[in-house]
Amino acid sequence: MNLILLGAPGAGKGTVSAQLISLLGLTHVSTGDLFRQSIAEGTPLGIEAKHYIEAGCLVPDTLTANMLQEHLRSLSSSSGYIFDGFPRTIPQAEALDRILAEFNMDIDLVLLVEVDYELICERISQRRVCPLCGASYHLTLNAPARPGLCDHCAGELQRRADDSRETVMARLKTFEENTKPLIQFYEARGLLRRIDNSGPPEALREILRKVLST
Ligand code: ADP
Ligand code: ZN
Repeated sequence: MNLILLGAPGAGKGTVSAQLISLLGLTHVSTGDLFRQSIAEGTPLGIEAKHYIEAGCLVPDTLTANMLQEHLRSLSSSSGYIFDGFPRTIPQAEALDRILAEFNMDIDLVLLVEVDYELICERISQRRVCPLCGASYHLTLNAPARPGLCDHCAGELQRRADDSRETVMARLKTFEENTKPLIQFYEARGLLRRIDNSGPPEALREILRKVLST
């Protein structure tokens, strides 16, 4: 089974991914994580992607699709994937169809993760991430056991470089302009389901169970 998560920045695609992994055992693929890893390693891809990411823009489609294709070749999972943050444009969605065809795979389900903009801004301002293992925290709702330190690896928690107020506004605009057309695109194929992620994790778990059983 292959599943796509669509949603505005800060909608909680990471949280939804974590729950889906425990429910379905799929392999998580996040293009945002792959870019951050390339940036941390200082690879040519990372150096190029950094400018776009810090400006709240999308990394060009070809670059992103090629990175994803190589990553899937290196994973070659047989059970399937959760695509978190890819595709983000119509050309990327078309590229994903071609890439999956190489593995005789298809998209089975697209979940649109919805929350209102006010909550997005609040969540992003409270978000802290571990630079070592990628774990994500919310300062009040999902605080680490020891302030400022990752529960899993004791890494020093940081704000993401693109979580500043100005960059968040740019990322929301990018979502409106480039990614929203994908809602129609997948709705037309009958693959889209909407997930309300404005409640607590337990509520989300119930919503996911329901959607997956219909
Ligand atoms: P969020 O969904 O909170 O914006 P991500 O970690 O998914 O966070 O993405 C962070 C940034 O990485 C994006 O703002 C964008 O610059 C870049 N990025 C991630 N995925 C893609 C993609 N599929 N196409 C182009 N750029 C991407
Ligand atoms: Zn950590």
